[in-house]
Amino acid sequence: MVKVTIDKEECVGCGVCYEDECPDVFEEGADGTSNLRAEFRGEGPFSGDVPDDLKSGVEDAADACPVDAIVVE
Ligand code: SF4
Repeated sequence: MVKVTIDKEECVGCGVCYEDECPDVFEEGADGTSNLRAEFRGEGPFSGDVPDDLKSGVEDAADACPVDAIVVE
């Protein structure tokens, strides 16, 4: 598993992660910012654990995010 965190304060809702790079993990939240899909959430929609088979997609999203709002650990 990899830990994924979205910095809600930095996210500008561009859609690159949830529309283009990794819609299996990310989705658009009610306010237009990125959320983790429900099955991956931890305490809230902005952090959680993602299986290793989705790691490369998450890393692609993190690399493509224009404001570096996605952290993969
Ligand atoms: S790519 Fe970054 S800025 Fe764009 S929606 Fe995803 S987390 Fe937000």
